[in-house]
Amino acid sequence: MATGTMPSRSQVEEIVRQVVTARLAGTRSGPGALAVHASARHMHVSREDLDRLFGPGYELTVDRPLHQPGNFAAKETVTLIGPRSRLISNLRILGPLRSRTQVELAFTDAVSLGYDDVPIRLSGNLDGTPGALVMGPKGVVELPEGVIRAAMHAHMSPREAAHYGVRQGDLMKLRVTSDAPVTFERVHVRVGEDSRLDVHMDTDEANACGLVRAREIVLFK
Ligand SMILES: [Zn+2]
Repeated sequence: MATGTMPSRSQVEEIVRQVVTARLAGTRSGPGALAVHASARHMHVSREDLDRLFGPGYELTVDRPLHQPGNFAAKETVTLIGPRSRLISNLRILGPLRSRTQVELAFTDAVSLGYDDVPIRLSGNLDGTPGALVMGPKGVVELPEGVIRAAMHAHMSPREAAHYGVRQGDLMKLRVTSDAPVTFERVHVRVGEDSRLDVHMDTDEANACGLVRAREIVLFK
């Protein structure tokens, strides 16, 4: 065997380096592990409404951080009163503060509160949505609108969006394989510089597809 055809030790090292580098690059350019979270009913609150509910200048207390950087569940809760004087107590506030107050309910919550219809909306898209009465320890706020069922959405970084070949506002599908398999057809893409790959659904949707016992979850175009 002619030794001339054997790669030299330094050539072998170079090939190994290239393979390892390619693998690492592949990892870095690919998406992070797909997380799926069920959001229980909650409220996002504006500075103005927090002042009315908890007193002027009140600051939320972090109870636990959420998967998306900077977002947190606060210790503070309020009581929500629906159109037929039915109420939900201990409605959790999520931080940080928003420019408009928004209540996110699952369909079951909406029915138990006496709403005939709560539209599915993207966060912040509140025009024409029903209102509610919100009670805090220091006061009451009458919301003329702001009660929604949150549209299912996938947070992702620009790099992850590129991997899937999608853009902000596109729709994707989510297939959850369980004893009650479901494919959700309208998962809105939300791209953020600091976002981590994470699908948010509500508790009704999570229960319908058996999320906690899911065997496989796939996000696709
Ligand atoms: Zn979300």
